Amino acid sequence: MVPEAQISEKTLTSQRKLNSLDIPVSLCSELLQKHGMTLYEIIWFENNINDTQIFKLLHQILDRACEQINSPSLLTPKVSLFFTAHHILSGTKKNTPNKTEKEESNTVFSNPLINAVRQLPYEKRFIYLLRTRESFSYRDLETISIRHRDEISSILTETREFLRIQLSKELLLPFSDNSELCALTYKYLSPYLDNELNALNIMDIERHICKCDKCLQILANHQYIHKQINNLQLISTLELLSHFWAERSIKESRNKLNTSGINQKKKHLKNRLHLFSKIWNFIWEKK
Ligand SMILES: [Zn+2]
Repeated sequence: MVPEAQISEKTLTSQRKLNSLDIPVSLCSELLQKHGMTLYEIIWFENNINDTQIFKLLHQILDRACEQINSPSLLTPKVSLFFTAHHILSGTKKNTPNKTEKEESNTVFSNPLINAVRQLPYEKRFIYLLRTRESFSYRDLETISIRHRDEISSILTETREFLRIQLSKELLLPFSDNSELCALTYKYLSPYLDNELNALNIMDIERHICKCDKCLQILANHQYIHKQINNLQLISTLELLSHFWAERSIKESRNKLNTSGINQKKKHLKNRLHLFSKIWNFIWEKK
């Protein structure tokens, strides 16, 4: 997590105005404001990653997503953003397979919910956070993860059940039952919780819940976890935006410096050529 940043809204606005990169700043800014927190969290949960690396990846994802949004595509900006994030983060993982664990002494890991989410494999965590934090439909999740609807449903159910079991061990749930769900409830758990189930199956599951206290309590535990995940805050919106735009300004200044350096070199070379041609003409005239 980044330290508390003392920066006002006014400064943020002026930093935004400083931008003159090729991508549309307003679009980039809008995507960052709406979905930056989820993106930050997704990257933050990766092992052995510091804030500089997180913000570098954030810039990379937003820049590439905005480029793609400008090109003819059927994807909405939100889907395009997370599709790009998934593509970049999966690539990063392939390139660095032997990452070491994050500093265990960090107090944030003593939070059982954070600790449980952190233990999830990358893709399960990615899909789960998108569903929970961004309320993506299964159709959009299929596009982003390039997976079939049934796989999305299984991934979400396995993830939810993993978190429930982990948190029930710590006695942190409203109902202490940590036994398994009945087969029918397990089969439809995620589509039911996510409003992705057809009317007939909804009736099946609700008929079962009426008779089964165990499944009813487990469903209540899942709703409680969902709420806890949505209340999770690893960084404040102001901190996120201030760091993002501050780093972008530094990046821009560096780019400008490089460009002016190249221009100066070109000017120097031009002057030398001019001098050389003058000397040459002088010698030629002497002859
Ligand atoms: Zn049951």
